[in-house]
This record gives sequence, C-alpha cells and structure tokens, in this order.
Amino acid sequence: MIYNEEFETLPREVLEALQLKRLKQVIQRVYHTVGFYRRVFDEAGVTPDDIKTLDDLKRFPFTTKQDLRDNYPFGMFAVPMSSVVRLHASSGTTGRSTVVGYTKRDIDTWSELMARCFVAAGLTKNDIIHNAYGYGLFTGGLGAHYGAEKLGASVIPISGGNTKRQIMILQDFGPTAICCTPSYALNLAEQGKAMGIDMKALNLRVGVFGAEPWSEQMRQEIENLLNITALNIFGLSEMMGPGVAMECLEGRHGMHIFEDHFLVETINAETGEVLPPGEEGELVFTTITKEAFPLIRYRTRDLSRLFTEPCRCGRTLHRMDRVMGRSDDMLIIRGVNVFPSQIEAILLAIEGVEPHYQLIVERTGNLDTLEIQVEVGEQIFSNADEVKVLQNMERRIVKDIKDYLGVSAKVKLVEPKTIQRLEGKVIRVLDKRRI
Ligand code: AMP
Ligand code: ZN
Repeated sequence: MIYNEEFETLPREVLEALQLKRLKQVIQRVYHTVGFYRRVFDEAGVTPDDIKTLDDLKRFPFTTKQDLRDNYPFGMFAVPMSSVVRLHASSGTTGRSTVVGYTKRDIDTWSELMARCFVAAGLTKNDIIHNAYGYGLFTGGLGAHYGAEKLGASVIPISGGNTKRQIMILQDFGPTAICCTPSYALNLAEQGKAMGIDMKALNLRVGVFGAEPWSEQMRQEIENLLNITALNIFGLSEMMGPGVAMECLEGRHGMHIFEDHFLVETINAETGEVLPPGEEGELVFTTITKEAFPLIRYRTRDLSRLFTEPCRCGRTLHRMDRVMGRSDDMLIIRGVNVFPSQIEAILLAIEGVEPHYQLIVERTGNLDTLEIQVEVGEQIFSNADEVKVLQNMERRIVKDIKDYLGVSAKVKLVEPKTIQRLEGKVIRVLDKRRI
C-alpha cells in the first residue's frame, strides 16, 4: 500500500525535474532570507543562479551542527516568528540544544510523511497505534502522533516511560501497531513476560522503530518476542524529525527516502567528496520544501549507504541502509542524543573535578546504562569531611547530567590518575553495548 501514490512512484526523470525546481526555489529563498546562507554562499563564490542541474548542488557549502549552534536559537529560520507554529529541540554538541521550527505547512508535510511511513508499514485508518515515543521537545512523539491522525488511525499518546502501565494498555486497548525505540520494544517485551503476560498473544501486528541504531539480530528478537513485523524508520530533528525515510513491508531492505522533500548525498566524512550509490559514507541532506527551517547540505554525521535498485513495492524512491555508525562521537542513550563534550562541560563546571573522565555505556536488560567515572582533585582526599564532600559532588553530577541532558547516569568518583591512559590520553567512551 502507498499513501501518496502519485509522489511516491514518480518516474525518476519526473521526480528529478521536480527536485530541481524545488531546489532552485529553496536556494533562492535561503539566500534572500537567511543571513548565514548569504554569507557562506558568497564566501564559496556561488549564487542561486548556479543551480542549473541537481549536480550543481555539489558546489554549495555544507551546513554543520556547529553552524546551527552559532545561530542559536532562531538565526537559521527563513520565516518570521509569526509564521512559526511549533518549536522542537534536539541535543547540540555542547551546552545548547539545536532548535528547529515549523510553519503550519511544514507540520502538514511532516504529518503526511509520517502517514506515508505508517502506510508503508501496512497500516490503515482501522489501526490503533500505541505511540511510545517521547512527547515534548523531542520530535518523535508529536511527529508520529500527527502522522497517525493524518492517516486517520486511532493513536494512543502514551509517550515514554511507565512500562507497567504501557503493558496494561497494550493488553486492554489492543493496539495493532507500536512505535518506540527498538530497545524499548525489547524492554516492553521482556517486562511483560516477567509479569506473566503472553506478549505474543497481544493484538500487535507491526512495530515502527527508530531514533537509535539497531541490528538485524535485534529485529529478529523483537519480532519473535512480540510476534510482529518490525520495521525501521529514520529521521532527525534538523530535517523535521522521524519520517525522513522508512522501510516498506515488501522490501524490508533499506528505507525509502522521501526524495520529493529531501535530497540525499553520501560523502566521505574526511574529504567531503561525494560518493557513488552503494558506498558507505556520511549522509548529507538538503530540504527542498521546508519553509521555516530549510537546510542546505546538512551533514548528519550518520553513516550509511544508498541503494538505487527498484523496490518490489513500486515506490521509485531510493533507499538508505540502516545507520551503521557515526562520524562523530555522539552517543544515543535510551533514545537521547548525548555528546561527550556536553558531559565534559557539565563536569568541568563543578569545583574539584579533574578533566579526566570516562563514559561507560552498557545495555543491561535492554536498557542503556551510563556510568561516568571521573577523577577528583587530590585535595579532596585530604579533607576531613572527605566522604561527605565526595557524596555531595556525586549527587550534584548526577543531578546536573539529568537536568541538562535528560539522562540518568551512575557516577563514580575516583582518585587522580586511576583512569587508564593510552599514550597519555584517557579513552573517553567505552561503548560496550552489543546491538
Ligand atoms: P534526533 O534529532 O534527536 O531525532 O536524533 C536524530 C538521530 O537519531 C539521527 O541523526 C540518528 O543518529 C539517530 N537515528 C534516528 N533514527 C534512526 C534509525 N532508524 N537507526 C539508527 N539511528 C537513528
Ligand atoms: Zn519498497
């Protein structure tokens, strides 16, 4: 089934003509409305008139997360605030988050793209969707919610957390579909089982999972435990949120990218060189219909590759492989994006803490855990109130991490020079998760 038969199955040459028309418009618009783009285009010696073919996009500069930070919070918006109807935010590399804005039409587009995703998963207006993505500043909850409503399905806005209640609702309301992070799906399955509930006997038929990396093996585990079909959905706040790309039931190999709204490239993360389809590299997206917050050649830091072969489902949209990693050090912990630099900034704001720390990420019982080991200054250990001072410090770190980043961490304060150094350097992140 296809939600927007016309646009999802355009012959490639028609799609490319549409992309070119939209690309020309967006490049013109950002040049005239966003100071940042005018400046960087001028610096690169390119003007909107240089877009004659889709290939000409290569000549334009990349946009990075740092650029968004430099223009925090609204500096990249291409419309006045009076036209912005929604704001969301995602993690930035240091203290400040990345803010994204939407016009009414942007919300409509996003809703349609999410509706396309649900239909690609075989859902219709007769389905009941249990939406366990977090509602709030995170794009997952509201994105899926609006898409479900657009489709006409019944949506249960359960949001994240409170697993026991979620299991009760899964039993009582009988949803046919579930959306959440794949690790949370496993967690629900196992907690339900532990409560003596037959999770395979629920009404669930399909799951739309994303927001964090997962493997084919995890897919199989989820499918077995919940007796459902598990599909992958990809997106990022900067592009709009979830619904940039989605697997279809028929293909289940790579996610169709909604190329009538986003142009995609893969690049060599070191050199910036554009790679041919099939080669693994960093995904770079350009929005071609967004009004409030258009982005030109945005470097996602997500590593993947593109497939251009036709798909059994009839969609002509190219596909991207599952995300295989990152070209930066961002971690996704329980669906929350965390940069080591953010943790470092929080630690260093606390007196007595040394700039030597290590983040240990593990997955126990399908839930990600974060332990922060950090060295504290010598003088603390000679303090008469040593234990109390250390306890207070630990509590403060736990609280600040939770308050600023929204993740729970275990903190272990250690003596100077305890954390192992490699060629003098502490290994900042030990990610022991087997996904
Ligand atoms: P956010 O902007 O907070 O929604 O986070 C977006 C990031 O989440 C992306 O850049 C990816 O790193 C990650 N992500 C989203 N969907 C997936 C997925 N299906 N598989 C792997 N990573 C994903
Ligand atoms: Zn397909």
